[in-house]
Amino acid sequence: MNNYEASNPLISFRTTKIKKDVANRDGKPRNMSANEIVREVFDKWVTGDLVEKQTDLKVEIEKARLEKLQLENKLLKIKIDFGENFQRPLSISGNRMITSNVKQIQDIQNESQSPFDELNNRLFCVNCGQLFDWINHNGFIDQIKEFTNHLLIKHNRNLNPLEKNVIDNLEYQGASK
Ligand SMILES: [Zn+2]
Repeated sequence: MNNYEASNPLISFRTTKIKKDVANRDGKPRNMSANEIVREVFDKWVTGDLVEKQTDLKVEIEKARLEKLQLENKLLKIKIDFGENFQRPLSISGNRMITSNVKQIQDIQNESQSPFDELNNRLFCVNCGQLFDWINHNGFIDQIKEFTNHLLIKHNRNLNPLEKNVIDNLEYQGASK
């Protein structure tokens, strides 16, 4: 091995056509080849400038579940306090009102969460966490339909504005991870 080889080693690896197309596409406006784009990312990683995405879907779902539990506990506490103070259970209408307040808060939480899991390139239901992943373009189209049907059948609702926006702008970018 000569000096040049030793101090400038070559790295090569296989990838998928879809991923290379993405590198080509992103390199084009900057007059860079797919190789150069990959090298740029690699250099950033080596210098510590490539920061891994912090949002972990599981953490987000756990957080949402915890908030839901806290709300339910709060609701239960209101009911118990009421019973203790007035020596009788909360009226049906009072019960309904508190329950509907809790539900409204949950709806607001759900409506502010995107159903697209960028990290794994898949959709998920913000209500129950069901995952929708795909292996190719046809699967991608199917899963979008599946997702919409799921909301309708399982949760008795249409896409909320955020979900609609995400779906309308979602482009196929390869298989889910
Ligand atoms: Zn669901």
